[in-house]
Amino acid sequence: MPLALLAGLVGFPACQHQATRPVTNQVVVLGFDGMSPVLAAKWMEEGKLPNFEHLAQTGTFMKLGTTNPPESPVAWASFATGLGPGGTGIYDFLARNPKTYLPRIALVAKRKPKFLFGLIPIRPPKVTNERHGIPFYEAVADAGYKTTVLRMPLEFPPSPVPGGKLLAGLGVPDVRGTWGTFFYFASDLAPEQAGNTEFGGKLVRLNLDGADATAEISGPVDPTTNTYRRISVPVSFQVTPDKKAVTIRLDGQTETVAARHWSKWFEEKFPVNFFLSVHAISRFYVLESSPALRVYMCPLNIDPKDPALPVSYPANWSKQLADKWGDFKTLGWWHDTWGLNEGRISDGVFLQDTFRTMNTLTKILLNQLQDHPPSLMVAVYTSTDSVSHMFWRLMDPQSPTYNPVEAKKYGDAILETYEQCDKVVGEVEKRMKPGGTLIIVSDHGFHAFNKGFNTNTWLVKNGYMVLKNPNAEEKKYTLDNLFSQGSFFPNVDWSQTKAYALGLGQIYLNIYGRERYGIVEPGAQAHQLEEEIRSKLLAYRDPQTHQPVLEGVYLGHQIDHGAYAKEAPDLQLDFYPGYRTSWETSLGAIPPGIVVTNTRKWSGDHCASDPKDTQAILFINRKLDSSDPRIIDVAPTVLKMFNVSPPDQLDGKPWALAPSTPVQAER
Ligand SMILES: [Zn+2]
Repeated sequence: MPLALLAGLVGFPACQHQATRPVTNQVVVLGFDGMSPVLAAKWMEEGKLPNFEHLAQTGTFMKLGTTNPPESPVAWASFATGLGPGGTGIYDFLARNPKTYLPRIALVAKRKPKFLFGLIPIRPPKVTNERHGIPFYEAVADAGYKTTVLRMPLEFPPSPVPGGKLLAGLGVPDVRGTWGTFFYFASDLAPEQAGNTEFGGKLVRLNLDGADATAEISGPVDPTTNTYRRISVPVSFQVTPDKKAVTIRLDGQTETVAARHWSKWFEEKFPVNFFLSVHAISRFYVLESSPALRVYMCPLNIDPKDPALPVSYPANWSKQLADKWGDFKTLGWWHDTWGLNEGRISDGVFLQDTFRTMNTLTKILLNQLQDHPPSLMVAVYTSTDSVSHMFWRLMDPQSPTYNPVEAKKYGDAILETYEQCDKVVGEVEKRMKPGGTLIIVSDHGFHAFNKGFNTNTWLVKNGYMVLKNPNAEEKKYTLDNLFSQGSFFPNVDWSQTKAYALGLGQIYLNIYGRERYGIVEPGAQAHQLEEEIRSKLLAYRDPQTHQPVLEGVYLGHQIDHGAYAKEAPDLQLDFYPGYRTSWETSLGAIPPGIVVTNTRKWSGDHCASDPKDTQAILFINRKLDSSDPRIIDVAPTVLKMFNVSPPDQLDGKPWALAPSTPVQAER
């Protein structure tokens, strides 16, 4: 029995009603994650983005207010629902459990399946979307309008869009349950290097036997046991006699791949037991065939043809798409930033894969608009975000990882991505219904990330966090620690600790009655402590430059309201451009220094910035009468266009838009 069958039982009601209304007033909403109004304006000025420029001239181009923090999950949740973080319950990629001080992915809640005798499934696995509120596209579909949604963040499991279609984006894990674990197989890997990398990679040493090597691909956790045993499948590599290629063999599939080339998609079947297997797809890139054998493998994507848990609505739509267009990545974190950040693939390999992946979405999007035109289309691209994170360094000589040689080759990577988006806009306009409305948004802007701030170290040095053994050597932290069930702060003495940092810019107080070993009295004592930490952080200066590091420190209970406001961090840190929470802090480490240089290729960021420095973009093919549009206004605006009443009391307000300017068919 395929696991998808099980998942089919989980909770997708049959379509209650079909979309019946004719497609008259078409609305297309395009999202370009992380597109910056500063860069867009600059490149429009230089004539490099003609389709965006045309929209700016004839319709609207403005800065769009984002959420605090200006992080993708937070901002896209507010985009979809018209609610602030207190209404959606999404404050960061991570949330914490006050009873264990352990972080968990904030976007989904999981329940494991149950098996009788470890064999017969008696309770299917269940994943619940933790994004609260009702997305506007669901409400529009419910009202009978044909709706298509592509690569929408925080749609795992997918929301029902009756009569329509939805493909989930950011938030869909790989089959290992992570945001994308890449694999790196190499014959020249030192034994001590093998294992988990700091951020989301698995390094596997190959023992070459002549021209042959075999390895295990470690897949999902075995759901029939209560251990964290992972199920593996074997893969073999054979260097060809001319040493210029590698033959890859996996479960009856074979391909000979030349060095410096990508393979086709391979299919992995991870056997759970006699009845069940978890299906994945992955692609290999042969980095080197000789003298060393080095092969990169992209994360184990949930197989769109037989997903263990649905990645689309209806559940079989991902299969239909794969049948028509071939296999495609289903992983939410779509681009291979981790492999590049860990130096296991090159800039060129990353970009090649990114543009190809982006093109998959464009093909589906244009085909849907042309052959199955919906009343409402929503599609979200994330290449703008991934490329900006990874290539900011080559656009900015101030970046600690600026390299003039690499800059000559890839300094225009972000511009090229924007140019690709510009082409998408032109092609979408050609396929839209006459008189339709085109709204283009990003979720936040971007700037440099040159220095990291070790928030927990700062808390220790200021006496708010106390270590059991201040001289203990730090353990090696990896992303794997985040998802395995270890102790996250092993050296913290909770009986004396008043505050701790977790995630990309959040501080929580160790509150009595809320946290397991809480010592801070809620109420007046807590508020006084918050104010004290806040003023000290705002006064903190970078020891090198004597400049302030934090632009804003906000009290969660002051900026957030709504049904889930109690989940808000006690303090939200908003850094000046150039700074961010350090890599180490995000992994729970407490290294010696407070301000540290960011030496990684991941050199642009926005996650813990002040929203006013990180505004998003807004383009509309109509004139907008507003001085202060915000991302939470998109949902009420689209609902109003379809005359659908908002499902809740929304935080956003609908915009006043002039009639649409005709879409130009020929340009
Ligand atoms: Zn980002």
